[in-house]
Amino acid sequence: MQYVSTRAASAAAASSSQQFSDILLGGLAADGGLFLPSVYPQVSGAELDAWRKLSYADLAFEILKKFATDIPEADLRALTAKTYTKEVYKNARKDEDAAQITPLRVLEEVNGTKLVLQALSNGPTLAFKDMAMQLLGNLFEYALARQNAELNIFGATSGDTGSAAEYAMRGKRGIRVFMLSPHKKMSAFQTAQMFSLQDPNIYNIAIEGVFDDAQDMVKAVSNDLEFKARHKIGTVNSINWARVVAQVVYYFRGYLAATTSNDQKVSFTVPSGNFGNICAGHIARMMGLPIDKLVVATNENDVLDEFFRTGVYRVRKSAETYHTSSPSMDISKASNFERFVYELVGRDGDRTRALFRKVETDGGFDLSGKPGSDGDEFRLVAQYGFKSGKSSHDDRVNTIRDVADDYGIVIDTHTADGIKVAMENLEPGVTMIVLETALAAKFNETILDALGEDAERPDGFENIEDLPQKFVVMKPDVEAMKAYIAANTGL
Ligand SMILES: *Cc1c(COP(=O)(O)O)cnc(C)c1O
Repeated sequence: MQYVSTRAASAAAASSSQQFSDILLGGLAADGGLFLPSVYPQVSGAELDAWRKLSYADLAFEILKKFATDIPEADLRALTAKTYTKEVYKNARKDEDAAQITPLRVLEEVNGTKLVLQALSNGPTLAFKDMAMQLLGNLFEYALARQNAELNIFGATSGDTGSAAEYAMRGKRGIRVFMLSPHKKMSAFQTAQMFSLQDPNIYNIAIEGVFDDAQDMVKAVSNDLEFKARHKIGTVNSINWARVVAQVVYYFRGYLAATTSNDQKVSFTVPSGNFGNICAGHIARMMGLPIDKLVVATNENDVLDEFFRTGVYRVRKSAETYHTSSPSMDISKASNFERFVYELVGRDGDRTRALFRKVETDGGFDLSGKPGSDGDEFRLVAQYGFKSGKSSHDDRVNTIRDVADDYGIVIDTHTADGIKVAMENLEPGVTMIVLETALAAKFNETILDALGEDAERPDGFENIEDLPQKFVVMKPDVEAMKAYIAANTGL
């Protein structure tokens, strides 16, 4: 399996020889594009039937081996078996079977139309990012050991990504994590989750400032290429290809668990921000999984909803980005969206490069086909099965309340955005699966508003705020940051 960049000129794409292991530890392609397989591996009906009986770990192995053809199968099987265990995904609700890894729950069934929740947030940090990040931790450790190399992961977080990365990389040989967060700006729960980790390879750095200050520090350090190379600095952001592939698995799992034959139709609604999660659904569909619709759900930050309604992609400035009660979807531009646009323009790297250059210069592009637009490919969006919708704070609060009253379970704010939009997109005879992207305990403030009581915490999280915390506080000073990293990497 070879990989191409979304911005490669066609001649370069044809002669690309990048394998899975080559792109595993990197981020963007050298030309600034994102990696995709040169062709999507196909899955037959007979394979789907056989996969219905598999455990989650075995299903993950079957799918990954189609993409990671340069990793010996026995090694890959050991990696997936170690990653997807009921001990790692133990935060399932009391009435869920943790061994299912992503258990399904039918919320409602009316005249053959089912509304189903797929729990993706039973891992160590209570958000779906663990599904991919836990695999990434094991893949990185494996790849670094093979090359006898080290990696220092450096990033900024406002909450979910940083904790998922730290829990995936803690204690891993050859890896250190330097994670910046805005001092005293995360919730007490999120802060405790990260800062209570005592592992010597985890460095929590609270920056005196806001998230953008932390993010700017990461950019400044990463732009110093000499420093970056010397200290073996890498990232684990959402454009990482291995993260996307790991997410493909649970679409197969959701479909197979919700159906008894491949003639049955299933749609997915996905609470979306950077378009990573739903991009994996698109890839599952391109591989032959019979997905009917992929519904993009956004909050008030509706960059994606706007595109899927109008064909206009218009990124927002940070001042135009709202801070909402589903904060992990507060994005102003969707970093994985380029993968879908590449497909939409017929895998034309030159077109894709021009469109995303226009995002830099003009703040967006227009594929509506109207006079003066940049193309008319928006007409193909329906063909790919995409739909969209958005949700507001009031919608979230009402949905959390309705779901608690009607179905007896408490959902988080992001999942509530998903349920609200899913309800508007139900079709007769088509099962709708909503992906549960976090557990309610992580966003308790809004739960308290909606229900007048605290969200239940999984076992072991009861007193997390009281645990001893390990972190340093620093000013947003790039030179001081470099000195701190250098002192701790010893390189
Ligand atoms: C990251 C995140 C999202 C958005 O996922 P994308 O892959 O960025 O679209 C949604 N909900 C939660 C809880 C998240 O942590």
